[in-house]
Amino acid sequence: MKKTALIIGITGQDGSYLAKFLLSKDYEVWGTSRDANGSNLLNLKKLDILNKVKLLSMQPEDFRSVLVAMQKSLPDEVYSLAGQSSVSLSFNQPVETVQSITIGTLNLLESCRMLKKSPRVYYAGSSEAFGNTNGIKASEKTLFHPQSPYGVAKASAFWMVDNYRNAYNLFACTGILFNHESPLRPKRFVTQKIISTASRISKGADEILELGRLDISRDWGWAPEYVEAMWLMLQQDNPEDYVIATGETNTLESFVIETFNSLGLDWKKYVRQKEIFMRPTDIEISVGDASKAHLKLGWKPKNKMKEVIALMLQAVN
Ligand code: NDP
Repeated sequence: MKKTALIIGITGQDGSYLAKFLLSKDYEVWGTSRDANGSNLLNLKKLDILNKVKLLSMQPEDFRSVLVAMQKSLPDEVYSLAGQSSVSLSFNQPVETVQSITIGTLNLLESCRMLKKSPRVYYAGSSEAFGNTNGIKASEKTLFHPQSPYGVAKASAFWMVDNYRNAYNLFACTGILFNHESPLRPKRFVTQKIISTASRISKGADEILELGRLDISRDWGWAPEYVEAMWLMLQQDNPEDYVIATGETNTLESFVIETFNSLGLDWKKYVRQKEIFMRPTDIEISVGDASKAHLKLGWKPKNKMKEVIALMLQAVN
């Protein structure tokens, strides 16, 4: 029988790729946006799936709207991806960040308890919950010590999912995903900012790329591969949490150099560091150990930083 999935936050990068992936698996796909009639549906259009998904308006912080979306779609699987997702913005809008992530998750878990048949739940956790691990690869056993309001909220929602799984026997999993990029990343995220600015410069634009710290390291993967891991988690016999990462970490400076080199440009001529882009607290080195996902889900990343840059450049050039 055809399965039904509800993607909470379908308009974002991951929601759009996940919708495409689930459609390819012959799912009936429902998706939510805070305002399905007024919001930006560009990602769904770009992937040519806008008319293949059923959209609902739902505000994760508003319990009534969560319950109604669940009752309307009656999903077998729910993917909870919505919420304020920018680490830097979370320092300026901590209340909105924490509420959209923690209350949104709590509302979803509570609504699952009220349905006759609880769906399987995937929750979009984040490597930002780990904070600094001193260059040691973070796994499912690594303690959380987040360095931003966003990371604190993601850690809190992780424990909420854990508690509801244990207390009410829900099939609920958290994917603790490290950074994953694509052409659908919003421009305010640093990778997309680097790619789009460098691309414009290579076409003759008179621009300077302004960035914060260049010495921080991140584990960058390819978003379309990461949404497959979300689905795999919900196909297992037991609900568990998984780290999803490439296992490779690179400095932001390497990301910049690789991008400008690929376009035949000397990055030093075009890049300036600016105090305004520095965060009050930041993670120095972020890197994950996805060996549990390799072992239990059979999931392995194919694209690491260099390939991700090439794929993102391809999309803008
Ligand atoms: P996006 O920002 O692209 O999408 C998130 C969606 O959430 C948006 O499309 C928006 O939908 C909705 N949203 C935004 N702000 C709020 C808010 N304040 N309250 C409620 N809903 C909101 O994120 P991604 O697709 O990149 O990420 C998906 C999830 O995975 C997020 O929860 C993110 O935190 C998490 N994550 C992402 C990582 C990454 O590297 N991309 C890494 C680890 C975790 P609309 O405007 O239509 O309502």
